[in-house]
Amino acid sequence: MALVRLTGLTKTFARSVAVHPLDFEIEAGDFLAVLGPSGCGKSTLLRMIGGFETPTAGRINIAGRDVTGLGPENRPTNMVFQGYGLFPHMNVRQNVAYGLKLKGLNRDEVVGEVAEALRLVHLEDFAERPVVKLSGGQQQRVALARALVLRPSVLLLDEPLAALDLKLRKAMQEELRRLHRVVGGTFVFVTHDQGEALSLANRIAVMEAGRIVQVGVPEDIYRRPASRFVSTFIGEANVLSGERRDGVVTLPWGLSFPAAGPDGRVSVVVRPEHVALASDASPAGEVRDVVFLGSFVKLSVRMSEGTELSIHLPEQPGTGMPRVGDRVSLAWRQENVRCFDDRTSPRE
Ligand code: ATP
Repeated sequence: MALVRLTGLTKTFARSVAVHPLDFEIEAGDFLAVLGPSGCGKSTLLRMIGGFETPTAGRINIAGRDVTGLGPENRPTNMVFQGYGLFPHMNVRQNVAYGLKLKGLNRDEVVGEVAEALRLVHLEDFAERPVVKLSGGQQQRVALARALVLRPSVLLLDEPLAALDLKLRKAMQEELRRLHRVVGGTFVFVTHDQGEALSLANRIAVMEAGRIVQVGVPEDIYRRPASRFVSTFIGEANVLSGERRDGVVTLPWGLSFPAAGPDGRVSVVVRPEHVALASDASPAGEVRDVVFLGSFVKLSVRMSEGTELSIHLPEQPGTGMPRVGDRVSLAWRQENVRCFDDRTSPRE
């Protein structure tokens, strides 16, 4: 049975719908990323689960109990906010102990639990340090310890790493993965960073304009995006305008391939790493740019009628790479190409 069940959950603000009626389940043990662009409603969704926002309609059920009408303190959830929300006048230990004291634990229990939580986030030597004298990454760890110490069934994280610089963010991503493994709970985090979602989560829910538009494991979302929006939001993608007639799609420079569906305009999506150079007698494009990026080489190729494609070729020492100005033709495997009917994607 799902640990969290959302039924018809909706949030409308004065003039806009932040979350359209939504049915969704989160399994125990999930590390779920809610991924979407700014303003798509992901924070509102998280805040409703945590009890910080009242739904306009719908129910929230956690661990078999309807919690829709309960405040945050009466839910088996805990939330780590973007700005961490630490008490600036307290030290690390006092911040972590605060929630335990509210719960009425005795002194010895609090001391033991706080010590364990600080060990978990590698802050045992910082217990007496005022939180204002910690780095951003350390403050983030305190916020995590403060939430984890209460042993919530569901830990909610709102853009947990957004305030950290790139290097620290990478380190904290590993830290979060380790914590999820060690603690074994259910983590739900909100992010607009697709790389973060792919590298942290075992399941991703992609949101667009107040709706969850695709749910799946990271590989699935990347390999089989359900729409043009998802394919361009997650990973790099070439989006080409095609025309379908009688089950055959034709691209502007004349390439045709079979793809069942109704007649009309289609968006043909192919990832840069799925395009190869072909030894074809009739080159159709010209190399405009070549950038060496370590493990791969990024080419920009302009086709005869003007379309530009991005291509990632694996770096192989000893093999000659194309040069700017070379004439080339392209090839890809049919199964790596996705076609989206433009008429059924009005919101893109
Ligand atoms: P971001 O990543 O920028 O935080 P988000 O995907 O988390 O974006 P939300 O913060 O959930 O998006 O906001 C969704 C929509 O609801 C936005 O259009 C936002 O302006 C609106 N909204 C959010 N909170 C309120 C509020 N308290 N009053 C009015 N409108 C709000």
